[in-house]
Amino acid sequence: MPRPDSVPPDVQARLDGARARIASACAKAGRDPAGVRLVAVSKTFPAEAVRAVHAAGQRVFGENYVQEGVDKIASLAFLADAAIEWHFIGPLQSNKTRQVAEHFAWVHGIDRLKIAERLSEQRPPGMPPLNVCIQVNVSGEASKSGVTPAEAAALAQAIAALPRLKLRGLMSIPEPVAGVDAQRAPHRALRFLFERLKAAGLDLDTLSMGMSADLEAAIAEGATLVRVGTAIFGERERPL
Ligand SMILES: *Cc1c(COP(=O)(O)O)cnc(C)c1O
Repeated sequence: MPRPDSVPPDVQARLDGARARIASACAKAGRDPAGVRLVAVSKTFPAEAVRAVHAAGQRVFGENYVQEGVDKIASLAFLADAAIEWHFIGPLQSNKTRQVAEHFAWVHGIDRLKIAERLSEQRPPGMPPLNVCIQVNVSGEASKSGVTPAEAAALAQAIAALPRLKLRGLMSIPEPVAGVDAQRAPHRALRFLFERLKAAGLDLDTLSMGMSADLEAAIAEGATLVRVGTAIFGERERPL
């Protein structure tokens, strides 16, 4: 497999550009930019690239692959003075939950109770609770992971009752479409579901939606956390 470029050029400009997009989307929506967290998605890029984006001021990073993420976490542990908050955003198999429970601060793609139960059992008691989001399949494609909107409430209630986890909210990866209006529809559906769960008594504060191509649409619909890879790190050689 070819090695990705070690450190993308113009890291500071790319990071500033992503932040400027968030700020202008917030201004348009009448929202405070402090209410939208930026997760820099570093999957496929090496630790040196993360280090460069960290030096440009970013502290929150997302990884999709367990081993790749754990390796980067270990090699960047020396940055503890300005520690990185690591988010696991990829699909998670049950034989990999322990590494995630022991090394990450957040997990975004939960769509089965069994995975949440394992994370709860395996989260070391000395660490703060693991923050989790339930992945919802808002576009309805058969191939994608995520619970249906109808299944979300029961799963949320069950996860909220687990020790050592903190259920923070909902996450989605809608089918890519062009145009802000078309992009807004699935984000709006996720926000409606989020509001419904909160009305049912769940204590949620995170709507994890929006990536490089659709962060404006996501922020217009209430995203509190956007996951941005390409706009910061450049194109990936591996598709995911
Ligand atoms: C890769 C990925 C992202 C970032 O995608 P970009 O289009 O590169 O911004 C966000 N969320 C998830 C779950 C991803 O897998």
